[in-house]
Amino acid sequence: MRAGVLALQGDVPEHLRALADVVPAHDLVAVRGPGDLAEVGALFLPGGESTTIVRLLQQNGLWHPLGERLRAGLPVLATCAGLIVLARALAPGPSGTDPPTLEFLDVTVRRNDYGAQRESFEAAVRVEGLAGAPFPGVFIRAPRILEVGAAARPIAWWGEQVVGIRQGSVWGLTFHPELSPDRRLHRLFLESAAGAPTPRGTRRPRSPR
Ligand code: GLN
Repeated sequence: MRAGVLALQGDVPEHLRALADVVPAHDLVAVRGPGDLAEVGALFLPGGESTTIVRLLQQNGLWHPLGERLRAGLPVLATCAGLIVLARALAPGPSGTDPPTLEFLDVTVRRNDYGAQRESFEAAVRVEGLAGAPFPGVFIRAPRILEVGAAARPIAWWGEQVVGIRQGSVWGLTFHPELSPDRRLHRLFLESAAGAPTPRGTRRPRSPR
């Protein structure tokens, strides 16, 4: 399965470097247009500036195709600004004008909600399905998940605060797994993506051994 990183703005090189540890180079795609998107079986949405990413998605003809692939079941791991782009609703917050979103993930988030003096911090995150030590969560001007609707469920916590959710094969994280050396989350997501039903609802054949 080919894995793509949306490569319009943000921490794209960091995601590609992290993925290079877990995916063969020939299966990695930098997604810049609809043709690239059509090639991938899983997609990473990087952190960055959601207003810019939304504008570039629209300018590059990716806004509607991405919405369609999401609805068809494409596994996506969205980090930080990526989560904002997919959220059903944004609560007004300190950032002023919020971008339109793809309104896919059943969550309400508020941008930049951890406050200016804590623009960037690291915290131990508990992630469902990750054995061993907590995950080192890197938070950079992170959005806060305020509400998780019925279609989504929490999968990551910093103390009591939900910092990651999942809706079917789409994961949304407010922290940046690509910025820590720990690759467990990239692996876990790709394993689950490989087992996700294809858009036609059929499972990929398993190899006999
Ligand atoms: N604050 C950014 C936004 O609102 C997100 C920050 C990030 O992706 N690290 O888009």
